[in-house]
Amino acid sequence: MSAPFKKLALIGIGLIGSSIALAARRQGLANIIAISTRKQQTLDEARELGLGDVYMLDAIEAVRGADLVILCVPVGAYESVMQAVAPGLEPGAILSDVGSVKGHVVKTLAPLVPKGVSLIPGHPIAGTEHSGPSAGFAELFVGRWCVLTPGAEVDPAKTEKLASFWRSMGSLVEIMDAQHHDMVLAITSHIPHLVAYNIVGTVADLEAATQSEVIKFSASGFRDFTRIAASDPVMWRDVFLTNREAVLEMLGRFSEDLSVLQRAVRTGDGPALETMFTRTRAIRRSIINAGQETAAADFGRPHQAEPVPPVFIPVREHGGGDDA
Ligand code: NAP
Repeated sequence: MSAPFKKLALIGIGLIGSSIALAARRQGLANIIAISTRKQQTLDEARELGLGDVYMLDAIEAVRGADLVILCVPVGAYESVMQAVAPGLEPGAILSDVGSVKGHVVKTLAPLVPKGVSLIPGHPIAGTEHSGPSAGFAELFVGRWCVLTPGAEVDPAKTEKLASFWRSMGSLVEIMDAQHHDMVLAITSHIPHLVAYNIVGTVADLEAATQSEVIKFSASGFRDFTRIAASDPVMWRDVFLTNREAVLEMLGRFSEDLSVLQRAVRTGDGPALETMFTRTRAIRRSIINAGQETAAADFGRPHQAEPVPPVFIPVREHGGGDDA
């Protein structure tokens, strides 16, 4: 059976690019997978991992003859990457991406898209805090949403072809307006990252003695923020620089709600706190019911079967307390 695409060109081969390469190969979605990246070292790593069929530093060579090109680089690099590949894009090709912000992508890419090429921006809502070609795995997209934001001028058959590509890799596909995507993602992804960066940053600024205690007792909640705050600094810098308006809008609402909580804590308003925490619990339940999270306790982390031998820890005046 022939593959739906004759040549898939992946420009950028980090976590997302390598996961697409592995999933597309496994599902037989392209006859040839061409890989291009900026640094020789990253390209060598991709070759050693066997992620593609052909490898080149020159992105224009990778896109020549490709009927599907996916940009998998940080959003801040789009303009320079697009200027490099545009002359090599062929009529009939689909040009897509995986960037976490969509409005800015359309603004940057659309003016540079050659005639006859269909620009269909995409965003797989799947990821981990790891980066680079060795971080990818073929199952990354299974059961996860991929949002496509084609403009009104795009042939629906092209959009369907790309949607089918993502579905074959296990994704659920939703078509959305780019601005709406940015508003939804600002609250579901961008603000949570900003909050995590802020909490972990606050700890980084604490005096050394307190900081070591935070690390020691981190399982009480802080640890889960550190996973998010370990995400790639360049990628996230670009997200906040390019989705500024939606992030600021949602941050305004977040700050108002935080003030309400602050007041409830200060005035000892137990019913207000309880009402709020009951609503938030219901949201977690609905995410589990939607199959987007595990119901297992503690995110399904393995727990030690045997008690750990006791360690003598001297009691400190300000220490103690069980706050798991
Ligand atoms: P990554 O693992 O850090 O890989 C980034 C890739 O882009 C590498 O091949 C890197 O090449 C290349 N690159 C970096 N800066 C570049 C520049 N200035 N010019 C040209 N190439 C450059 O990143 P990723 O996590 O796969 O993220 C890629 C895209 O996916 C981003 O737009 C991000 O918004 C989006 N995304 C990420 C996640 C996630 O959880 N990570 C989820 C959904 C969407 P070299 O190593 O050769 O420099």
